[in-house]
Amino acid sequence: MKYVSTRGTARGDDFASVLLSGLAPDGGLFIPERLEPFTPDELAAYRDLDYAGVAKRILTHFAGDSLPTALIDGAVDSALSRFHHAAIAPHLQLDENTWLLELYHGPTFAFKDYALQIVGELIDRQLAAEGRRATIICATSGDTGAAAAAAFAGRENVDVVVLHPLGRVSDVQRRQMTTLPDANVRNFAVRGDFDTCQAMVKTLFLDPKSAPLNFTAVNSINWARIICQTVYYVWSSLKLNSAGPVNYVIPTGNFGNILAADIARILCFPVGQLMLSSNENDVLPRFFDSGAMECRDTVETLSPSMDIQLSSNFERALWMALDQDAAAVSALQAKLAESGQYHLMDAGLTKLRKRFSALACQRDQALSEMRRVQAVSGQVLCPHTATASFAAQQTGFEGTTVVVGTAHPAKFTQAVEQALGQPAAMPALLAPVLNAPERFETIDADTDALRDHLLDL
Ligand SMILES: *Cc1c(COP(=O)(O)O)cnc(C)c1O
Repeated sequence: MKYVSTRGTARGDDFASVLLSGLAPDGGLFIPERLEPFTPDELAAYRDLDYAGVAKRILTHFAGDSLPTALIDGAVDSALSRFHHAAIAPHLQLDENTWLLELYHGPTFAFKDYALQIVGELIDRQLAAEGRRATIICATSGDTGAAAAAAFAGRENVDVVVLHPLGRVSDVQRRQMTTLPDANVRNFAVRGDFDTCQAMVKTLFLDPKSAPLNFTAVNSINWARIICQTVYYVWSSLKLNSAGPVNYVIPTGNFGNILAADIARILCFPVGQLMLSSNENDVLPRFFDSGAMECRDTVETLSPSMDIQLSSNFERALWMALDQDAAAVSALQAKLAESGQYHLMDAGLTKLRKRFSALACQRDQALSEMRRVQAVSGQVLCPHTATASFAAQQTGFEGTTVVVGTAHPAKFTQAVEQALGQPAAMPALLAPVLNAPERFETIDADTDALRDHLLDL
């Protein structure tokens, strides 16, 4: 399978190089040149597979012959051995037609593990095969940094640099990143918000002076991550589809998770309607209402991992909706970078509205949804998952609807305590981070200074 950039200039890269670079050299995002639906025979081959089987098959499809099968199989087995639930991604029934997909049984208790554990194995093994080293760089609103640090800590061929917005991640999230003893993990708290951190990563990445660091981006702009997330939509939709296609409501920030669901649907797995939920940072719901993508200042909310104004993966959905017109995508993205806004016109907007819907959930609505779900099912939701559960209640899709559970509630003690009057039970595997010593540097949002500092290490 060949990959192109959403902005058109890079083309013909294979999966292995897409995996190791992350961002296309023209600033765009890699995407397969063509996404063909599976044939009924190809779909049938997935019917009786377990989670690991689905993961191996999907990755092999997208990697083509650019990675050896043995490398993919070994990476998947070794990554999934670190999850703490036999089903990897279990479903919990919340009411007659509503299910919770629990994506928080990995090492750092958020769905980011489902992709990063596998991607970490793939990158380390592929670097070893090529005899190279790389620096993994990632901006985080909380969970990606923890998952990336856990996925790469102690590995031979990589250093990890994680940028998080100072004071804007939960205590547990910060401690998960900063308490790792491994010398190859470096944490920086940036005076700014998540979008600042994400912009710094993009700038560092495209800066010719940082070439010696050999950066690899593992934010969800890395296509390999999207594909690893497609795996759980394939798995889940095949499990639950006895009554027709399965709808998903997905807590959304960077648009990676919901894009992965759309890919499963394009391949013809039984995925029905897709709805995203946001918190008060409602740039995407406003876009779906009006066609105006208009970034405002990020506000702090109960659900910090969704405190984002620039959804980087939306560029891939835009490229598809604009019939792969890379020039049009480049023009819109340039406008967004310059002025913080663009307007999308008729055909593209209509196509996007057919594929996705969107709803914002305010603080009080999330808190009362956490109380409602606990009362009817006993289940404690994290504040991100609560926005999706709220949205699912408002829409009433026909048939089976799955609320995608993106994090364990114990990562967000304050929000849970506000909603329910007491904190969520702390899993034994998470408790040790609360007392371990932390290691991070606080820095200004100065990309040149950070690059020089990293080059000096
Ligand atoms: C990252 C994250 C999200 C947002 O997911 P995207 O793929 O960026 O849209 C939602 N909830 C939690 C808990 C997260 O960590």
